[in-house]
Amino acid sequence: MTRIRLTKEFKFEMSHALKGYDGLCKNIHGHSYKLRVTIIGEPLNNQNHPKNGMVMDFGDLKRIVNREIIDVYDHTVVISNSESDAVKEGIGKATERIIFSPYQPTCENLIDDFAEKISKHLPDNISLYSLRLDETASSYAEWYASDNV
Ligand SMILES: [Zn+2]
Repeated sequence: MTRIRLTKEFKFEMSHALKGYDGLCKNIHGHSYKLRVTIIGEPLNNQNHPKNGMVMDFGDLKRIVNREIIDVYDHTVVISNSESDAVKEGIGKATERIIFSPYQPTCENLIDDFAEKISKHLPDNISLYSLRLDETASSYAEWYASDNV
């Protein structure tokens, strides 16, 4: 049967700092991120099912991504876990929402992490096809399942 891709778009505000980076992004600064989540599957063909004709209810996809990504990262400061205790403590005093990531919080590493977090919560008959994470109006990273088999 035909396979169809569905995409849903999300937005969140997040700040980060890139430890050891040789440019301005080593300082704490924020972005209005846009995340596009594309899944793939076959539309359900069952007249007696409430989701007849759908690959996945957009509402179900929204709930998964909100719970796993948006609610977790929105209005947070994300810094590498390898920052010094003094830095962690200092930022911790300035915000209630801080995430110490096990990686440098670049657009590339974030999207890779998001792909894993979203993938494992999708129903068995649905696959994550791709993600696109826009960090600015002109810069984005893309993750494709086909690039990572
Ligand atoms: Zn940045």
